[in-house]
Amino acid sequence: MTQPLLPDLPGLSIEQITLTDGVITVLAQSHTTQASCPACTSLSSRIHSRYERILFDLPWSGRIVRLVVQVRRFLCLQPTCPRKTFAEAIPAVAERYARRTIRLKEVLESLALALGGEQGSRLAAALRMRCSPDTLLRLLRRLPDDPVEPPRVVSLDDWAWRRGHRYGTLICDLERHRRLDILPDREAASVAAWLKRYPSIEIISRDRSDTYATAARIGAPQAIQVTDRWHLLKNLSEALQRCLSHHLSMDRKQQTRELLEAPPVLQGKRTPYLSPLQKQTVQLHRTERVARYEQALALRKQGLSHQAIAESVGVGPQHGSALDGGWSFPRTQKA
Ligand SMILES: [Zn+2]
Repeated sequence: MTQPLLPDLPGLSIEQITLTDGVITVLAQSHTTQASCPACTSLSSRIHSRYERILFDLPWSGRIVRLVVQVRRFLCLQPTCPRKTFAEAIPAVAERYARRTIRLKEVLESLALALGGEQGSRLAAALRMRCSPDTLLRLLRRLPDDPVEPPRVVSLDDWAWRRGHRYGTLICDLERHRRLDILPDREAASVAAWLKRYPSIEIISRDRSDTYATAARIGAPQAIQVTDRWHLLKNLSEALQRCLSHHLSMDRKQQTRELLEAPPVLQGKRTPYLSPLQKQTVQLHRTERVARYEQALALRKQGLSHQAIAESVGVGPQHGSALDGGWSFPRTQKA
């Protein structure tokens, strides 16, 4: 019954399936009778011991699946072989020393390729295939590079190993939109040496530096050098800025000259708007101030001191001292 459900476990016979705490455990056993030594490749059928290998597999219906495989350890029969014993491999199910089945590893690789470490790890956890971001990135790094086809259109650009400190050269295939190589430095000699390996190169897109121009001239003299789109736009924006700033400065100078030549425009004093009630209040205050002033003058004529005048008219001593010939109470002008 269970074997048709697990068709991708060749060489293993399923003994038992249990469900504990939401984890499905599949007990399986290898039924090969002999195995090949990984050191000397000689076959052996002499069993030394048995042990259990635990492999995580693709989840079933949202449940984690654990494969517990009983594998055998064989004795190597070659007297000259440095390995005395070796564990049998289950190459169709898992790689040597791996803790995941090949099919689970392939799904995780697809997640890492599509989403990267952090996002891939989150989705993997939601799909019950727990895997840390670091492990996903490690799986990515182990993926073999695709064979490099002879490139025709390549780009040369700076690659910051550490921004502001150390730079290399990033070389991309612009037709296939993929990275071809990252050189450890951005020296003309290293770039030229790399370009010489590919006589198929016809077009080189590069920045405005002399280094890459020299490298392209030496390494791929057959290729046409073009400026990449980003640098073309940068050239254009810089040219526009130079042109416009010249015109703007001329305009500003003209405006300044006109301002200096024109007669000054004086702004009239604006009187604040007052409501009828506010006007009446202002007038009352003014009348009261004038009356107080006249009273103070009359008292002064009678020879009173400024302290006595201040007390009499009901103002503070500082106002009183102003009565004694101060500026705030000019004798000829009423407040
Ligand atoms: Zn051996």
